Amino acid sequence: MSKISRLESWKGFLPQGAWVMAHRLAPSATTEETWTSEIPSPSTHHELHLSSQTLTINPDSGLTQNLSSEQILSVAPSTIPQSQEESLIQLQSELQNCQRCKLSCGRTHIVFGEGNPHARLVFVGEGPGEQEDLQGRPFVGKAGQLLDRMIAALGLSKNEVYILNIVKCRPPGNRNPEMDEITACSPFLYKQLELIQPQVIVALGMFAAQTLLQTEEKITQLRGRFHLFSGIKLMPTYHPAYLLKNPASKKEAWWDLQEVAKELGLTLPSRK
Ligand code: URA
Repeated sequence: MSKISRLESWKGFLPQGAWVMAHRLAPSATTEETWTSEIPSPSTHHELHLSSQTLTINPDSGLTQNLSSEQILSVAPSTIPQSQEESLIQLQSELQNCQRCKLSCGRTHIVFGEGNPHARLVFVGEGPGEQEDLQGRPFVGKAGQLLDRMIAALGLSKNEVYILNIVKCRPPGNRNPEMDEITACSPFLYKQLELIQPQVIVALGMFAAQTLLQTEEKITQLRGRFHLFSGIKLMPTYHPAYLLKNPASKKEAWWDLQEVAKELGLTLPSRK
């Protein structure tokens, strides 16, 4: 195992099987003692017990309790492959305190996305709105309530799908994200999709569809048929916020979702 850093300057995630090495040279001792501790479960917080003393390792602040004459020597990566859950948690931890673009200045919370890491169906929105920014969760406002109903209409529950956004921080006044913001944030989106490997992606609204498909075609032209994103079937449809203002378009959105249901082999619940 290679040493990745000294803990004092280390920030990140401790996957299961990673190890932390501590080293003590007691003031009167002539020999050095070294402990290694394996991380028992994926964690961003780990306590290492050395004799009667406890050393707390917290990636937020590095070493939170420094024992006199004891030193953390190194943190090594795990040789155990990470699960999708662990990889997503690690990816999320890499976004902690993100300042990769100017959206960081006005945000309350980073909205990473949430749902089932093994979801067969992923919904991609544009970016957090006011409520999402306040709560740190995607689609929790009015548009989110409609998205919940769209998911239920497919006979699915929210914990069977994954919901995320193109950008993870709220654009001021809900303006569209700008190119430099998308460029800074999209590696995280692409990594999320690569880890989840859904069977189908639903792009909610013109912005998500155009960004994922790298096209300038309008949503009216894009929706209603599958496209490919990295080999994954992608169905563009109207954004729930648009549908709230234009309920007549719900019919077309329902048509799009029925195509998604067919692709996934879902049995639709009877509609009230
Ligand atoms: N609109 C989006 O595109 N994403 C959200 O999370 C909420 C509203």
